[in-house]
Amino acid sequence: MNIPICREIMIDVTNYCNLSCPLCPNGKIRKKEKIAHKNMSFETFQNFVCGLKIIPELFVFGNKCEPLLNKSVFEMIKLVNSKNSIFTLMFTNFNLIDTFLIDDIFNSGIKQFIIGLDGIDQNSYTQYRKGGDFDRVLNSIKKIQEYKKNNNLQFPVLSIMFIVFKHNEHLIEKAKTLFEALDVRIDFKRTDLYDGCEQWLPEKFTKNIIIEEKNTEQTSSFCILPWRKATIDVDGNVFPCCADEALEFKFGNVFETSFDKIWNGSELNNLRLFLKNKINDVKVPCINCPVYKNNGYTDVANI
Ligand code: SF4
Ligand code: SF4
Repeated sequence: MNIPICREIMIDVTNYCNLSCPLCPNGKIRKKEKIAHKNMSFETFQNFVCGLKIIPELFVFGNKCEPLLNKSVFEMIKLVNSKNSIFTLMFTNFNLIDTFLIDDIFNSGIKQFIIGLDGIDQNSYTQYRKGGDFDRVLNSIKKIQEYKKNNNLQFPVLSIMFIVFKHNEHLIEKAKTLFEALDVRIDFKRTDLYDGCEQWLPEKFTKNIIIEEKNTEQTSSFCILPWRKATIDVDGNVFPCCADEALEFKFGNVFETSFDKIWNGSELNNLRLFLKNKINDVKVPCINCPVYKNNGYTDVANI
């Protein structure tokens, strides 16, 4: 099998979040298993990044946690950006961005923040983003945009990811007006179908549901993530995607083995062979995954 090029590394440099969103599967696991807050040290991160032979195009901070809880995060981003032509991006709730110096944020070279924010004021925002402070986030957004304008800078781009629920779907147009006036992109997405989500689901808005959008006819398509992306948790464990919420299927550990070996190793290759229907007697996280059940994201017969 041809070894694919890893295009994206997504990493958690902490295992915690400052908010308590009711449907967040990671928050539920943290609570159930009483997991203590832990950060990845800069030195550990540096060893990993400096040992990388595969340089991805995209390096994403924040998968299941809030990256701004790690005080070294912008130093880490700066290190990644010292490697050529990498796009660095962070998924964040942005509540803690004002605990960092603005110069450190800009000097890190980060290209984009995708901010989870689904309201237009404190009341609508905290119905889901429990523990969040809407005005604090909005003020930080304004401050970053102003700094960019004053210094004629294009990056970092700020984007809002507005999850549409029953309680906020009537606010879509108001949210567009609010953020477009600040020159901030806003995307709308319905919540994923987590356990207990029924009471939260919007009545009219149905965008971005893989299950509903897929053609039900059999096609030659399958999930392409293990060809493109690797996900790494705070302990260095590697996963092919974020669908394995229980973090049961680990494909190696970058603190023990080089990432290149893991990416090119037999376990990830077996997952790729499984997804191409070439083998079936392997343990994989895909069996109950909606992406797998619906024949993947796209037609990738040429992989
Ligand atoms: S902000 Fe994100 S990681 Fe934090 S609790 Fe909410 S959904 Fe989970
Ligand atoms: S099919 Fe689902 S579980 Fe399997 S690699 Fe793709 S996203 Fe992950």
